[in-house]
Amino acid sequence: MHFKVCEICGLKAGRVFDQKRTFMAKFPLDEERCKKWVQVTGKEDLAYVPIEKLHGNKYICGKHFRPSDFKKKKTQLRRNAIPSLLITVKPLSEEILTGFPLHIFGKTIICTYPVIYAHN
Ligand SMILES: [Zn+2]
Repeated sequence: MHFKVCEICGLKAGRVFDQKRTFMAKFPLDEERCKKWVQVTGKEDLAYVPIEKLHGNKYICGKHFRPSDFKKKKTQLRRNAIPSLLITVKPLSEEILTGFPLHIFGKTIICTYPVIYAHN
């Protein structure tokens, strides 16, 4: 069964669980921002998950964002939104995140230096 789990509070949302259409935000592909998101979860194992996988499989629920983090449509976050509410864990240290992010190229996972992507 597939459902989304909030990496901060463990809230589950999915077809079965989600009667209220809980807002679940995907981890961003932007490296600096994604790093901050991983940092606030306090989960060291997430620091070693390639950024593409974080973006594809990991979520943070809407409770951790301020109203000002959302665009006018409440279903979209602003580009620079960082979870900041109801956080009960200690953030990860910069040390743990020095190698972040890992990348997937094809099926191999390699650690690279930061890559500059063109943003549209
Ligand atoms: Zn949550």
